[in-house]
Amino acid sequence: MSEASARTRRRSLHVAKPFWSATPGITAPSVPRPSGTAWDIVIIGTGISGALMAEALTRRKRRVLILDRRPPVRGSSLASTAMIQHEIDIPLHRLAEKITMEKAVRAWLRSVRAVRDLQDLVARHGIPCDMQPQSALYLCGSEMGHRAMRREYETRRKAGIACDYLDHKVLRERFGMERTGAILSDASASANPARLTAGLLRLAVQRGAEIVSPCEITDVAEPGEGVALATSAGKILTAGQVVFCTGYEFLPQMESRSHRITSTWALASRAGVARPEWLDHMLVWEAADPYLYFRTAPGGRIIAGGEDSSAPEAYQDPVRMHVNAERIRDKLQALCGLNIGRPAYVWAAPFGNTTDGLPIIDRVPGFRRSHAVMGFGGNGITFSMIAAQITAARIAGRADPDADLFAYR
Ligand SMILES: Cc1cc2nc3c(=O)[nH]c(=O)nc-3n(C[C@H](O)[C@H](O)[C@H](O)COP(=O)(O)OP(=O)(O)OC[C@H]3O[C@@H](n4cnc5c(N)ncnc54)[C@H](O)[C@@H]3O)c2cc1C
Repeated sequence: MSEASARTRRRSLHVAKPFWSATPGITAPSVPRPSGTAWDIVIIGTGISGALMAEALTRRKRRVLILDRRPPVRGSSLASTAMIQHEIDIPLHRLAEKITMEKAVRAWLRSVRAVRDLQDLVARHGIPCDMQPQSALYLCGSEMGHRAMRREYETRRKAGIACDYLDHKVLRERFGMERTGAILSDASASANPARLTAGLLRLAVQRGAEIVSPCEITDVAEPGEGVALATSAGKILTAGQVVFCTGYEFLPQMESRSHRITSTWALASRAGVARPEWLDHMLVWEAADPYLYFRTAPGGRIIAGGEDSSAPEAYQDPVRMHVNAERIRDKLQALCGLNIGRPAYVWAAPFGNTTDGLPIIDRVPGFRRSHAVMGFGGNGITFSMIAAQITAARIAGRADPDADLFAYR
């Protein structure tokens, strides 16, 4: 294995304690070394992508080994605000301009299905993670005024995605917000992302998967019929196939020109904040740059985030973290009179994005048995669900009809 490819992009995955780190049931059993050698598939990463992948593969009776250089569920899934949206960061009519209408509609419809599939999966296995169906309110902002929002609404309706358009008068009367318009839709959800991830990992372990931590993978090769993985401890692990679910860190072989790392900020208020009744069933976000988004967590805590910056290391700046938390808090007050006081938790993290807002779910370029899932934006959890479905089908030798949407680019 080459020295150049032995470098991995390592960064801290969040700064300060995300709110979910204070909630119970957020880990899964791990061992320091693998107990066997005959693994069908190695998954790298114990975040939501690795957990959903492990569930999908163990359901198909595969022998699965899961590796992480951190303890289970300590990557960016712990920092997620977990608005599980069917809405993709790039509006449907704008995505159509980038990749054609036919493909954009498929991507959006697949997202709608993935949110439903994730809710069904959680219900089927009784995973305790506060999963709740939610409506979503997408507000006009600096990036889309009411004409563009109306166009977006009409494009979605034509594609068969249920939604309503609210003009400024209805928005003010029903939600007390001053914006020129908004799209209101169902088909989204929210959850505690750490409990969701841990619950899925525990399910995979019950089915025979093993989690090894800490174990850092520094390189991959495909000698003969399988894969060989080099660890930072100087060992080589072998398996039939490997899936890299490494979030915002990746081996050089996985790099893509369309993918970039940015910074984002989030906060959680104290419990029991005075709030309008509708907010307990709603994810709110705006078509603005930087944007604001928020929702309620059980106990009446407001979870909010935004202020995204294209600077990949900006999230590490402690001063900026507090300035941005104040901005988010002030925007909440200005938009809907929500006074959350001093946030109880404030955190910052890197974030990944692609130029078309769609993730990469594909074989690693130049490899046959090494798979990558990466490039998750604001609805990363929905994309992790799609990634598990597409990758599990690919490993089983079946083609997923939407796989082309998420190819390396
Ligand atoms: C602040 C914030 C808010 C967000 N809000 C939302 C939201 O509201 N809705 C939504 O859907 N998405 C949201 N996202 C995005 C979503 O959280 C991510 O897409 C998702 O958590 C990524 O999960 P993952 O499993 O791919 O990565 P991670 O959770 O980061 O897991 C990757 C794991 O791989 C391990 N790893 C990496 N490299 C190696 C290696 N070489 N060897 C061994 N282990 C390795 C890491 O230690 C890590 O544990 C948000 C993200 C952030 C940061």
